[in-house]
Amino acid sequence: MAQQLVDLRDVEFVIWEQLETEEMLKHEKYEEFNKKTCDLIMKEARNLAIKEILPTMSIGDEKGVVLKDGVVTTPEEFKRPFELLKEGEWPGLRVPPEMGGQGAPQVVGVCANEYFMAGNWPINCYTHMGNGAAWMIQEFGTKEQKEMYVKRITSAEWGGTMLLTEPDAGSDVGALTTTAVKNADGTYSITGNKIFITNGEHDLCSNIIHPVLARIEGDEPGTKGISIFLVPKILVNADGTLGERNDIWCTGVEHKHGIKGSATCSMTMGAKGKCIGTLLGKEKEGMKIMFMMMNEARLGTGLQGLAYASGAYLLALNYAKERIQGRDLKDFAKRDAPGVAIINHPDVRRNLLKMKAYVCGMRSFFYWSTQIGEKNEYLSDKRDPLQSAYFDLMTPIIKEYLSKVGHDVCVEGMQVLGGAGYTKDYLAEQYTRDCKICSIYEGTSGIQAQDLVGRKLGAMKGQAFMKFIGDIMATTAKAKKMKGLEDIAAQVEALAAELGKAAGALGKKLGAGELKAAFAHSLPFLHAMGDTLVAWMLLWRAVTATEKMTDKVKKKDEVFYDGQIKTAQFFIQTEVPVTMGKIAAVIAGSTAAIDIDDAGFGGL
Ligand SMILES: Cc1cc2nc3c(=O)[nH]c(=O)nc-3n(C[C@H](O)[C@H](O)[C@H](O)COP(=O)(O)OP(=O)(O)OC[C@H]3O[C@@H](n4cnc5c(N)ncnc54)[C@H](O)[C@@H]3O)c2cc1C
Repeated sequence: MAQQLVDLRDVEFVIWEQLETEEMLKHEKYEEFNKKTCDLIMKEARNLAIKEILPTMSIGDEKGVVLKDGVVTTPEEFKRPFELLKEGEWPGLRVPPEMGGQGAPQVVGVCANEYFMAGNWPINCYTHMGNGAAWMIQEFGTKEQKEMYVKRITSAEWGGTMLLTEPDAGSDVGALTTTAVKNADGTYSITGNKIFITNGEHDLCSNIIHPVLARIEGDEPGTKGISIFLVPKILVNADGTLGERNDIWCTGVEHKHGIKGSATCSMTMGAKGKCIGTLLGKEKEGMKIMFMMMNEARLGTGLQGLAYASGAYLLALNYAKERIQGRDLKDFAKRDAPGVAIINHPDVRRNLLKMKAYVCGMRSFFYWSTQIGEKNEYLSDKRDPLQSAYFDLMTPIIKEYLSKVGHDVCVEGMQVLGGAGYTKDYLAEQYTRDCKICSIYEGTSGIQAQDLVGRKLGAMKGQAFMKFIGDIMATTAKAKKMKGLEDIAAQVEALAAELGKAAGALGKKLGAGELKAAFAHSLPFLHAMGDTLVAWMLLWRAVTATEKMTDKVKKKDEVFYDGQIKTAQFFIQTEVPVTMGKIAAVIAGSTAAIDIDDAGFGGL
């Protein structure tokens, strides 16, 4: 069976049935889109991903990238899919027309990216990563900067990066030492070294625009003194043509656990004293500006985790339908009974349904949150602060939960394949290795958890969190009136109530200044909130499916909808009790991890 990457029927269910996106298409900004055009775009993304991108996934893993004389060469096989994505204007699919994009509804672009990422994430990254820089320039750049860079980046003619990390400034960005000195012509000379820079140098674009965090000489230490500069690899003439090579160079590429086709570069700036950049926004506003891009990147990382999980699940599912091993349990006493596909074994079925539940729950969560931001920031004349806070509340959970659970799902996928899953004959092991990065870059798990508990939960006096609980309760109230959903609705209601208590317990500790005691439980709390979101999304799916199960439903759809209801039942009956235990531990608030003496950890 051919490898599938994303279940398109499932995506269509989320977009058209669960989220009822057709209503949104009535907005004037989407007058060129209707359900039919959106469906066509998504099918085309699937074709491209399966036929052109997926075949390069293991090649990227085997060949990696090569650095020679300051030039990074990507595998030859990457060139064709890169050009196809560029020519097809896929990087600009969900970018507004004023930035050179096609202005498609966000979920359509998300679906395309889910496919491309599951097909070979580095290719998607080489074509799409620049969008973050383009958004930032569009929002904070001068007229000249916008005209010079935005459209060239969103078309993937030029690449875009983000240069934050330094050897002694990782999670602690404020510790950076890269400096900037103002020149007489208003430009800045940049000096410093950055590490771990994705796409810092490669051969797929004719130029690369680097947003660089640096401190103007004399500005205060810490994040408050940081500014941001646009540093092109090749300086750009006033008429937009390429000029002299700028003094920013790749000095090394990392040899990594996964995503080996992605160039992770060490960069040096100003070795010859000639690295020129222009200020983006105002001096000392670097962190505020970069946060816009980092938030985008964090959402993208969550989608990356979901995409790997989706690919890994479908790979395991197909394998389980084909691999013959053992007899059916009903024939356990018959020695001559025929062998059956492993999907018939209860433990394999449990594993597959667990994977499906997480993939479906995470997909609904991601697509739903995307629309919160889209409605509030793109389709409304005025931003609603509560909706902004609601979207912000979801960002660290998307980033961390989809990364962590995406990886867990990949591991389960390897298990379904048995020994074959541990070999390079299948993509299961590559998905697992590639996925691990998601919980490390763009702010590690611990940093996301601190952001959630330290900043987002209490934002607007906790109103966003209260809205979250209220929205869950609206779904449970509806589900309680539906035959077959009453019990699981009650379980989700109880889960949300307990999560609320855990949030209260952490808030109390923070209020009392017991920061360490609170942060020791911040990541388990984030994961419990993610589980709650998945439970809610699956219940919502079950409600939608139940509504569709009329007498007129076609057999194929009936099986699909019934699958939604069974998935919700499975997750809420088997995973939610575990989450309840995790929440109880957060509320109990053990301080052992804080109290233990450093020497008590053991070692030398
Ligand atoms: C493949 C790859 C691509 C990358 N791409 C880019 C890029 O394009 N641009 C860029 O600028 N950077 C990039 N990075 C860097 C990445 O963002 C950092 O590695 C990451 O932020 C963590 O920093 P660090 O590696 O220095 O780890 P550290 O900061 O040393 O963290 C080590 C551990 O300590 C924990 N920790 C650290 N500080 C705290 C704290 N205050 N509270 C609680 N826990 C803490 C962390 O959670 C982590 O578990 C990339 C990294 C990799 C591996």
